[in-house]
Order: sequence, then structure tokens, then C-alpha cells
Amino acid sequence: MVFFSGTKTIGILGGGQLGKMLLTTTRQWDINTKVLDPSNSAPAKIACNKFIQGDLMDFETVVDFGSDVDVLTIEIENVNTDALAHLESAGIKVYPQASVLKTIQSKGLQKQFYIDHSIPTAPFQRFKSKALLKEAVLKGEISFPFVWKSETMGYDGYGVQIIRSNQDLEMVFEGKCMAEEMVKIDKELSVIVCRSSNGEVACYPCVEMEFHPTANQVEYVISPARVSSTVAKNAEKMALAVSEAFQHVGLLAVELFLTHEGELWVNEVAPRPHNSGHYTIEASYTTQFEQHIRAILDLPLGKTENKVAGVMVNIVGKEGYNGPVIYKNLEYILAIEGVHPHIYGKKETRPFRKMGHITIINEKLEMARKIAEQVKETLEVISN
Ligand code: ADP
Repeated sequence: MVFFSGTKTIGILGGGQLGKMLLTTTRQWDINTKVLDPSNSAPAKIACNKFIQGDLMDFETVVDFGSDVDVLTIEIENVNTDALAHLESAGIKVYPQASVLKTIQSKGLQKQFYIDHSIPTAPFQRFKSKALLKEAVLKGEISFPFVWKSETMGYDGYGVQIIRSNQDLEMVFEGKCMAEEMVKIDKELSVIVCRSSNGEVACYPCVEMEFHPTANQVEYVISPARVSSTVAKNAEKMALAVSEAFQHVGLLAVELFLTHEGELWVNEVAPRPHNSGHYTIEASYTTQFEQHIRAILDLPLGKTENKVAGVMVNIVGKEGYNGPVIYKNLEYILAIEGVHPHIYGKKETRPFRKMGHITIINEKLEMARKIAEQVKETLEVISN
């Protein structure tokens, strides 16, 4: 294969932690890489062969970056999709495809996609502006509580707000948005599917995401999910149907709600490595990052089963601290068996900024979950 110790190059749009972890596989396999990121201190910078600083949303920048690579992929969704379509028409392999990204970038288009493909999802209405949403509320067409979602550029819960009153509604930003029915969530689940350009598909086991009660961010990922085998199987079946509908190449993380009534609804997808798959580095036969590289290079996909149970804890900046980061008590948690830290290399901490993650593996899932809590309580991400 020409990619191994060869002259062909994979281009990656985005140089955050997901890019850095993708580069573990390209380094292992001696594959040449090039990364584009707006920040000159991007985490992936140290592991790629060539780093270019530039705006991922700028047409010319993305076209220039992509025109001399052999395969172009992403680690962040907010990139210029017109540039990707242009590169595709010039013969560059772009995975995930520009059309997939275009649908996913807009929460409204994404939800409509589920309706068009008969994939169960929470009922919603789209609005061209905040004023039109307010009008619908005033007319009684929508009642409290509901979930407001900004159509574009939301991530990690920043574009999502539960609206219980007119006062809450005043707080949300202007612009295109959706009002979604508030789901009575029993558990939030995720299933990662990988699809190669020749159509081979591999599905990781269903995992469970536990959320931080106030920050609206995933705090723990638990693999396998603590649900019945029927629920896990149905979640995996649904994720495969979503993957089939998108016909994406590479990873697709499918986030689902398990409702109080026991139904499964698709919340949203991400066509890239996902936080809910970080546990695969230590707990699975094939990491999600290696699987993505296999898929975009049209190589056989790897086994997706767990070797052992895994719990991942997101390490975020502690409230009240901004500035050069200090990881306090890391030496204590390293003394615990099965604890594997990943520090992303971001120099500055901010409250709730994702600075790293820690995976705990153990033969017993409940023990891994207990240790995860201990790890979370011990490690502090602070600054002076
Ligand atoms: P983001 O793209 O920012 O991750 P999501 O759409 O995944 O946004 O929403 C973030 C979180 O908000 C979800 O994981 C869930 O906890 C909560 N949430 C989203 N939609 C709903 C809903 N319809 N009902 C109840 N909670 C929701």
C-alpha cells in the first residue's frame, strides 16, 4: 500500500485532541500527514508531518490545503463544505463526504434527514429567527418546557437550552433555531459505526454517557452500557440504519436517547472520532482512531468488541481557574490499577474546557465506574 512509508498524504482539517489521537495511528503506520488548524498551538501540531495555520471556514484556505493531499478527512465539523465539494470534484477523496457534513452542520437539516429516512427522533419545529419562535410561543403553538437549539455552530451543549419561561427565552441568541420537545430521558446512549469506501461496516457496542448535572457536558462514558441486551441490540440496529442512510465513509457516532417509556430516539450524529469512543484506546481490540484511518484508506476494518470493561472520565478545567494549566494530583491517580490518562496538551485552562480524559479499565464494570469517580474527585485541573 502506497500510504505506508510512502509518498501519499492524509490531510486532516482540525488539529484538536481528536486530530492528535488520529495521528497515533498514522505515526504507528508511518503514514504522511498534514494538519490545518487556526491555532498555532493546536494539540495535533506535534504529531503531524506538516502543520498549516489557517481558517477552516475559509474557502481558499481549505482548497489550498486540500489540493495536494490524497485523502482529506476532518476532526471537527465546522469546516467550509463548499471547499470540500470543490476538492471532491477535482478528484480528491474527501471522507466524510461534503454532502454528509453539509447536512450535519445544520441541526435543522439533520433532523429533517431523520424524518425523511423514517428514523425516530424527538418532534421539533424550525424557525428562521428568534422573533418567529417567540411569536409561536405567544400564539400558544409551542408550550413550555421545550428545548431550544441553535441551527448551526452549537457544540458540547453551548447551542442548547431548556426553555421553561419567557425569561429563559429572552436569554437565547438570535438566528435560525429549533424548538424540540423535551424528552424524558432515562439514559443517553451512543453507538459508533464505521463504514469504509467499499461498503464494509463495523459497529462498536452501545455505550452510555453520563452527563454533568449543570455543565451539560458528558462526564463519564461507560462501556458497555448498563442496559438490557435488547436495548443495546436495538440501539446498534438503529445506528446501523442511520449509517446506511448517510452512506458516509469513516466513523459515525450516533447519539441516542433512551426515553422513560423505553423508546430509542436519535438525538444527533457526528461523522468523526467521538468523545464516546475514547475508551476504545484501552478497552477495545481496535481503537476508533485506527478504525477511521482503516475506513478512509479502504483497508479491512478491525474487530470492535471490548477486551475489557472501560469507563472514560472527561478532564475539564475546574471552575474559578483561567490561565496556564496545572494537573494537580496526577501522580496519585496513576498509582491506581487500570488508570490511563490522556492529556491533550492545551496550554491554558478555562472552566469546563476539555483538557484531557482518563480511561479506567477493569474486569468489572462497576469497579471501573467507582474508580472513575475517585479519579474525578482526586485530579484537579487548575492554574496558579
Ligand atoms: P450538542 O450538539 O451541543 O452536543 P445536543 O443536541 O447533543 O447538543 O444536546 C446536548 C444535551 O442536551 C443532550 O446530550 C441532552 O442531555 C440535552 N438535550 C438535547 N436535546 C434534548 C431534548 N429534546 N430533551 C431533553 N434533553 C435534551
